[in-house]
Amino acid sequence: MSEDTIFSKIIRKEIPANIVYEDDLCLGFRDITPQAPTHILVIPKKPIPKLAEAGTEDKELLGHMLLTVKSIAEQEGLGNGYRVVINTDEDGGQTVFHLHMHLLGGRYLRWPPG
Ligand code: 5GP
Repeated sequence: MSEDTIFSKIIRKEIPANIVYEDDLCLGFRDITPQAPTHILVIPKKPIPKLAEAGTEDKELLGHMLLTVKSIAEQEGLGNGYRVVINTDEDGGQTVFHLHMHLLGGRYLRWPPG
């Protein structure tokens, strides 16, 4: 059984979030500490702690999340480009252990990241 995180509480609407998208499989909401003019997190409702723990059974879910990120980017008017990031585990800088995709846009994003 995976640990309950702040994101599970957001899914259950126990704590507030600025939700921009929701369906049966995933949820999109604005990051509380935005790193770009648009910074949205897309999370699965299934509590997968990190990408390293996703399995082949999650193939459709992961594809669905990525296409959801794409449609949110369109909805947000990010026609000039954007970045999708999955921080994974300690060296990847992950702080919340419920899988999430960051959608960042609305400014030029330098490469490589820090
Ligand atoms: P990570 O560092 O794990 O890749 O990203 C976690 C993200 O979750 C961070 O960007 C952080 O700002 C965001 N975050 C943490 N707690 C909350 C919260 O309670 N609400 C929202 N909307 N975002 C949060």
